[in-house]
Amino acid sequence: MSQIEFINITKQYGNFKALDNISFTINNGEFIFLVGPSGAGKSTIIKLLIREELSDAGEILFNGKNIREFTQKEMPDLRRKIGVVFQDFKLLNSKNVFENVSIALEVVNSSETEIKSIVPNVLNLVGLTDKILSFPKQLSGGERQRLCIARALAHEPDVLIADEATGNIDPDASQEILDLLGKINSLGTTVIMATHDERMVDQMKKRVLRLDKGSIISDKKGGKYRE
Ligand code: ADP
Repeated sequence: MSQIEFINITKQYGNFKALDNISFTINNGEFIFLVGPSGAGKSTIIKLLIREELSDAGEILFNGKNIREFTQKEMPDLRRKIGVVFQDFKLLNSKNVFENVSIALEVVNSSETEIKSIVPNVLNLVGLTDKILSFPKQLSGGERQRLCIARALAHEPDVLIADEATGNIDPDASQEILDLLGKINSLGTTVIMATHDERMVDQMKKRVLRLDKGSIISDKKGGKYRE
């Protein structure tokens, strides 16, 4: 069974089709790039997958379950299983590094014991142990992005989605983020990365799903950005 299945998905904004009857599947543990020019539909795929929006036609299955059928009560569970790292970080500036991660766990009623074991663990994984008491404004762009990844990982997601996660940071920091996503993937988490960064895509030689004007124009393993 595929972990994620998009079946004949169409998403319209008014008369405009942001996604036009697309179908694809992603297996557990894959690393996949979503590429394509601005407006191609990459973010729309992500919004539909986390059910921030619903499609106009077609169905999306997550672990075999139609995401339309998740009840209001089950939604937090879906959002935990699919962690998203956004380009604009969405960090709490008045909270330090530790708190930015621990708050994500507090809102789902994790115990203090869990928080004390999970938070240092994920901060270690992303290489932010030394910055545990720093505030977001005291971090570099790359460090802020790693903090976002730590926050998403605190819930032990099945899938980690990075939407233009390296869009706002310099090449060295981007490389670190890419290496980190590779490491997270090698530990078993599915990684979906929407990006414009050709260099990264070419270097990773992973599956590349290429979109243009709401359609899939190619889907290749070991793909390159321009092919
Ligand atoms: P990408 O992430 O590849 O840049 P998007 O998925 O954000 O592309 O957008 C696909 C298309 O849908 C774009 O033309 C965009 O303008 C349009 N679109 C996205 N969200 C909305 C919205 N809320 N209302 C109207 N149009 C939208």
